[in-house]
Amino acid sequence: MAGPPVNPVLVDLFEGPKVDPNFRTISIEITGSDFDDPGQAPSDQKIANALSVVWAVMERYQIRALDVLGHSEIQPDNADPGKKFMALMRYLLGVKALVEGDARMKYLVFGPFLEEGSLPERAVQRYFEFVRAYLVLVDLPVSVYAWEARSKFWFVMDQIVQAPLALPLISQGCFPIFGETGHPGSCYLDPDNHEGLDIYPVGAENKLDWQQRGAYLAVSGACVAVGENHGFHHGKMAVFRHRQPDGAELLTLYGHLQALAALEVGKVYAAGTRLGEVGSLADGSHAFVHFATAYGATWDVQLRQNPNVPLSADARWVQRHFLPPGEFLRQVVV
Ligand SMILES: [Zn+2]
Repeated sequence: MAGPPVNPVLVDLFEGPKVDPNFRTISIEITGSDFDDPGQAPSDQKIANALSVVWAVMERYQIRALDVLGHSEIQPDNADPGKKFMALMRYLLGVKALVEGDARMKYLVFGPFLEEGSLPERAVQRYFEFVRAYLVLVDLPVSVYAWEARSKFWFVMDQIVQAPLALPLISQGCFPIFGETGHPGSCYLDPDNHEGLDIYPVGAENKLDWQQRGAYLAVSGACVAVGENHGFHHGKMAVFRHRQPDGAELLTLYGHLQALAALEVGKVYAAGTRLGEVGSLADGSHAFVHFATAYGATWDVQLRQNPNVPLSADARWVQRHFLPPGEFLRQVVV
């Protein structure tokens, strides 16, 4: 996504003659510290108060939303006020501008995202995309997931995007294979870098019937990718995007498939849709489906470029990018 250039205030502070940031900025102090720590997160009232003060200062001095920076963004050795907190502030400035801002305030927030020959509504969409994309850049997918639930970001995006994808909320789901499951193969974090769960059907492969050979979509969602996999597992794979009832988005991945059904990227499918077939592959492996659940932002930082975990991944890396798939299935399959 083509974003705005580097913030001019930052260029001034880092590349200009050495000046104390306090001489170039108006500081707003909020009591407390490390707001991204769930135990120290400010109350809604405190956030609303801070938002009002930021808004009033912006209005008085005609400061753009892009020029509202967190202390840590000027002084990287300082963790305050937090990455998720700043993303929430930027998001709320966008919502406030949309709901009650006059034309000048709207310009201060969305103006830098206006493009020649494109509608002002596009600038609004690009601003909100920038808010999440920036958080994705500086924080971990597991944090972005928590932020999406807190901010209700995707519900607001649905209102802003002209033709939103009608992504259903996750409700009752189904197991990725039909019938009984056999011996457990690799599990989540076992081996260390294994991000999914290998689910085997019961019985000899040549005795499996049509239903038992199928791989099925666990919960309703939109197809984001289908194709060949060349990572830890070979075979074909399919990736889907889903939305939790709280607004956070996640992905489900189905790998080690022998064949894929005719799936269309961008289309929404119901839970239980047959995605393809399991079977032994050319590398001599037996029939199983590799099922994984990733945080939505893992798409942006890893899976869009490469549907596999990096070779260097360890348990810590996996936990920051993938949810435990067994726990997810226990919650949705009743
Ligand atoms: Zn696997």
